[in-house]
Amino acid sequence: MTHSPDGSPPPPVPMTDRELIAYDRAHIWHPYASMADPLPVHAVASASGVRLRLHDGRELVDGMASWWAAIHGYGHPVLVRALHEQAQAMAHVMFGGLTHRPAVELARLLVELTPAPLTRVFFADSGSVAVEVAIKMAHQYWLSRGETGRTRLLTVRGGYHGDTFQAMSVCDPVTGMHQAFEGVLARQVFAPAPGPAFGQPWAEAHSAEFARLLRAHRHELAAVILEPVVQGAGGMRFYSPDYLRRVRELCDETGVLLIADEIATGFGRTGRLFACQWADVAPDILCLGKALTGGTMTLAATLATDHVAETISQGRLGTLMHGPTFMANPLACAVALASVRLLLDSPWQQRVAAIEAGLRRGLEPCAGLGTVADVRVLGAIGVVETTRPVNMAAIQDFFVSRGVWVRPFGRLVYLMPPYCIAPADLDLLTAALAEAVARKEHFA
Ligand SMILES: *Cc1c(COP(=O)(O)O)cnc(C)c1O
Repeated sequence: MTHSPDGSPPPPVPMTDRELIAYDRAHIWHPYASMADPLPVHAVASASGVRLRLHDGRELVDGMASWWAAIHGYGHPVLVRALHEQAQAMAHVMFGGLTHRPAVELARLLVELTPAPLTRVFFADSGSVAVEVAIKMAHQYWLSRGETGRTRLLTVRGGYHGDTFQAMSVCDPVTGMHQAFEGVLARQVFAPAPGPAFGQPWAEAHSAEFARLLRAHRHELAAVILEPVVQGAGGMRFYSPDYLRRVRELCDETGVLLIADEIATGFGRTGRLFACQWADVAPDILCLGKALTGGTMTLAATLATDHVAETISQGRLGTLMHGPTFMANPLACAVALASVRLLLDSPWQQRVAAIEAGLRRGLEPCAGLGTVADVRVLGAIGVVETTRPVNMAAIQDFFVSRGVWVRPFGRLVYLMPPYCIAPADLDLLTAALAEAVARKEHFA
């Protein structure tokens, strides 16, 4: 950057679109990106409904809901108004020694909506932090009971829990970059990926290795952590709720805590408000995030049972050792409250069911292609697993040329649109995806 001789920054001359992209490319990291030769990025000027408007005027129908978050689409007037009103009252105050109506009302709503035993709420500033807090709760629970040897976690392969270090340690060891961080990551216990697939009949054999590992390591485990029913970024797999039910029973049998990570699945995406409800189970600790604010602000929450909270509080430390600067940010809480109420007031079950039907209709024909290994749909999530990894640059260009925003990774090309998507826009997404995976030049 060029500074004037006295060190003051350059005057605010607006950058041209080309300068903007060039500066971004040279100076800003994007998710999981290289700075040496990053993939192209597109500049978005605005977004409304299910459409992203690029600087060059093109419009893209959004198939990603900004990574599970924008369930109401963009610029919903109810959310904009909630944000605006809260900004005028107070954008932020510290949460140490202070509280406010948006945090209290949101906590009360979350306690009402989530499985009954979850009654205590910790507000965190991102999903990964909510997972860190959940793991910290589990460790402090055992410390409070005088059990200092419970330092490990049991999880299943194919999971994704975030990018901070404890969260990374329970991500799938292959897709989750464990090799790169060997020696730095905590060594957790990994059971095989959960099964059978959603809708297939469960048998005891599906949980046998999980049960064996849980029993073998029971005295060194603080908790089991997994994503209920749908595994997101670790592989986009859907598994039988009966497996989850069995995990709950086995945790009860051994006394090991169960952490459910519903950061991706929460707020209706799978067809239930929370994926735990498919199995009618309650975890001891629950993580929420992503769609919590309808994709407007970053906010997450970790909920715990009375028993977990009281055990932590009666222990030697007495307090839960966590307190982010922006804890329970009023803007984020106010917009989350508006978003969750908006969801509950909407016919979200019908909308998700209609998206599920549209995804099946549009994607299932892909199963016959030689490039496609599997097609699966659950709720408002549609996944096409390809036989070879996609060529990201080529397939992204193709999608943009078709007027849609779809962001695959590896061998997974998938859709999880905002719930308000119109049938014609959903057809546009599925048709573009079907055409994309049929073309050989889109694979590495
Ligand atoms: C996205 C995600 C996280 C991490 O949330 P961030 O807000 O990205 O830190 C954790 N768990 C699951 C299941 C997720 O999908």
